[in-house]
Amino acid sequence: MEDVEAAVIAAAEEHLRACQVADQRPRPDDCLPCYLHRALRGMECDGKLSLTHEWQGHQRVRGRRTGGLTVFLRSRGGFCDCEVLMNVYPDREPDLVPGRDRCSHPAWR
Ligand SMILES: [Zn+2]
Ligand SMILES: [Zn+2]
Repeated sequence: MEDVEAAVIAAAEEHLRACQVADQRPRPDDCLPCYLHRALRGMECDGKLSLTHEWQGHQRVRGRRTGGLTVFLRSRGGFCDCEVLMNVYPDREPDLVPGRDRCSHPAWR
C-alpha cells in the first residue's frame, strides 16, 4: 500500500472515530429519555439526577419550561437518571439515529 493511500485511509478512520464520539454525546434537543439513553451509554449513573438536571439546563437555555420536573419524576420512581429511564419512561423506545439534531419523539419530556 502506498503511503498516500495509507494516509487517506488513516484520515478517514480518524474522521469516523471523531463522528462516533460526537454521536455518542447526548443531544440537548432530544427528549429527556433519549438524552439519558445517550448520556448513560458513555457513563455510569451517579445515583442522582445529574444528567436530568443537565438536560433541564439545556431546556432553560431554549426557553422551555421544565418546572416541577424533578417532583414529577420522583413521584414516578425516578430518583436517579437510570431510574428515570426504567421507571418513568419504560415504554419509550430510544431514538438514537445518528446524524440528526434530535429524536423523533414529539414530546420532549
Ligand atoms: Zn426521544
Ligand atoms: Zn441510577
